[in-house]
Amino acid sequence: MPHPLSSCYITHGLSTFVILLSGWLTCCFIIDWLGRNVERIKATKIQPYEKSHDADLVNLARRTVIRNWIAVGVQTCLAAPLLEAAFPLSSPLNKSEDGVAGMLGGPVCFFVAWLVTNDFLFTIAHALYHEIPWLYKFAHKEHHTWKAPHVWMSHAMTFTEISVNGIAVMAWPLVHSLLLGRMTPLWMVWLVQLVSQLIGCIEHSGYDFFYPLVFFNPAWFNGRVFSTTKHHDDHHKHFQGNYGGYFACWDIILGTNIEDGQSTYKKKKA
Ligand SMILES: [Zn+2]
Ligand SMILES: [Zn+2]
Repeated sequence: MPHPLSSCYITHGLSTFVILLSGWLTCCFIIDWLGRNVERIKATKIQPYEKSHDADLVNLARRTVIRNWIAVGVQTCLAAPLLEAAFPLSSPLNKSEDGVAGMLGGPVCFFVAWLVTNDFLFTIAHALYHEIPWLYKFAHKEHHTWKAPHVWMSHAMTFTEISVNGIAVMAWPLVHSLLLGRMTPLWMVWLVQLVSQLIGCIEHSGYDFFYPLVFFNPAWFNGRVFSTTKHHDDHHKHFQGNYGGYFACWDIILGTNIEDGQSTYKKKKA
């Protein structure tokens, strides 16, 4: 009889949930502490503190986020058999050097492909929320309750939006697993999930100090390739435009970037 701890609900379901929750809490505590205590970071606050830390909105964010983490826990445990089928705990992947596995197997290639596909899918979904009124009300309006973001509301959104984000995050790992005959190890999935959460926390931090991609300074590319925290903060403040997550270039291509406080798309429409 298999050991109870080897059940997929423990090895792939509960473990994934614990990694996600502890990763998010760690990011939130560190960013919140730095923002409150380091003068250089405080000086980069984008919107006034009274606006982002209104007591009612902070309490509402707390309730919404607790609700969502319970839902994510249930979702992750239900998805455990699928996770186990697609992502082994250990894999001979890194030893492969020939063929498709050799080409796609490396963590760097996996990570870059994930970054681009995830953010492309996210941006398309995000633009659709804002362009289709009923979809906005149904899926995205809740996240815009907060016009001045702070790190603890980074997970405050409808369950539909969380699920769509989850599909975008997992799309490339699932394709990768299919292409490589189920050799993508679970740790690679955890890595991209944690990076996704870290970027979400930074983009909602309210401080234009941290780079969303951590080591990539968006100014290196004139702010037209990689996103900044202000890029997403402006989205919350001005509502239309700046739909991209990790990359600002999607908005340049779509003509939806916010310039001088207004979306260029809105300017064109007017
Ligand atoms: Zn939005
Ligand atoms: Zn947001």
